[in-house]
Amino acid sequence: MSSKVFDLAVIGGGVIGLAHAYWAAKAGRRVVVIERDARANGASIRNFGFITVTGQERGDSWTLARRTRDVWAEIAPKAGVRVEQAGLYLTARSAEAVAVIEAFLKTEMGEGCRLLEPDAFRAESNGLGGPDLVGALHSPHDLRVESRTAIPALAAWLEAELGVTFMTETVAFDAAPPRLRTSRGPVEAGAVVVCPGEDFVTLYPQRIAAFGLTKCRLSMLKLADPGLSLPGALMSDLGLTRYRGYSALPEARALEAKLRAEHPSCFANGVHLIVAQGTDGGLIVGDSHHYDTLPGPFAPAEAERDILDEFQRATGRAPPPVLERWTGVYAVADDRTYLVDAPEPGVRLVIVTSGTGASTGFGIAERVITDLLGL
Ligand SMILES: Cc1cc2nc3c(=O)[nH]c(=O)nc-3n(C[C@H](O)[C@H](O)[C@H](O)COP(=O)(O)OP(=O)(O)OC[C@H]3O[C@@H](n4cnc5c(N)ncnc54)[C@H](O)[C@@H]3O)c2cc1C
Repeated sequence: MSSKVFDLAVIGGGVIGLAHAYWAAKAGRRVVVIERDARANGASIRNFGFITVTGQERGDSWTLARRTRDVWAEIAPKAGVRVEQAGLYLTARSAEAVAVIEAFLKTEMGEGCRLLEPDAFRAESNGLGGPDLVGALHSPHDLRVESRTAIPALAAWLEAELGVTFMTETVAFDAAPPRLRTSRGPVEAGAVVVCPGEDFVTLYPQRIAAFGLTKCRLSMLKLADPGLSLPGALMSDLGLTRYRGYSALPEARALEAKLRAEHPSCFANGVHLIVAQGTDGGLIVGDSHHYDTLPGPFAPAEAERDILDEFQRATGRAPPPVLERWTGVYAVADDRTYLVDAPEPGVRLVIVTSGTGASTGFGIAERVITDLLGL
């Protein structure tokens, strides 16, 4: 079989692989994306599409998220990706939650954000909020896309406008330049980036094992159109104990102790609330977090009840009917939000290990491609 020649091969067609393909193709390099499935079908299309800046871990993650948000904002209109929502509202139901928001607002991460009085939040959100609402954080910094359509649109745009070649339904058996073996024959590439998501065993399994990764399974729901338009993505104060930009603040300890006592099942199931709205008015709602080296397919109904109960508490509305249910899995590390490894010359292995790939991927990929291709 004759081989095909490229400057860069990207293995994995999820958002992280596409981000690497973007930077290399934008720099004029010949790029091929090799993807096992007919199109991305993993975490990248199962997520909220929430391009989160607010609440990302202080420091590098927050910097990467702002860069990634800016890239999404620039390329979304060109790629035909609709930004469904801009901004974030996070409801607070206790003095402890307000204390965390106030502490957050005093950091550099709070720039441009506001603490709203309950009435102001209700006015901006078409009357949302439970009876115990005491305030809400608003941030203008976050974006939201509908991943199930945005990721295929991004891939199609890379192919049509930036000349990226896609080899789908193709498995890469190895990644060593200048000649890779794939299930559709050899591919010649001067450099390779491996973005395998939660596949830890096909390529460089020993290198990946050395990072001590595990996996997280999340439960997600799509609810029917509630008949009102959300002014932005919505979270509840459970998120203040999970997202490191808030939870690392000393004030978060008292809030976590309180919420753990009040909602033990939410903590047992790793439940916090994100609600995002799509063009059809439907709500993407989640999520739960269950950790295992091999997360099984069996998602506990209790976690779904916890998510829906939290929806009711945070919005003051009964959840609309469930239209869809799915789970997704991502890679997790205890000690880092992402890893970049160089298993051999001309190869980079890139795995986001914190459930933030849509929010940090373009920023990470920009650094990797600049270094690998000497741009
Ligand atoms: C339910 C859920 C909600 C989330 N919400 C958000 C959110 O709102 N915002 C956010 O920023 N992040 C979110 N995340 C995390 C985010 O989705 C991930 O960090 C991101 O999608 C990881 O992208 P990826 O490209 O590395 O992995 P994946 O999307 O898993 O893609 C990896 C691809 O590599 C392919 N592949 C692997 N090995 C090979 C091989 N040898 N040959 C060929 N192909 C191969 C696979 O087929 C797969 O398509 C969420 C995740 C989940 C599961």
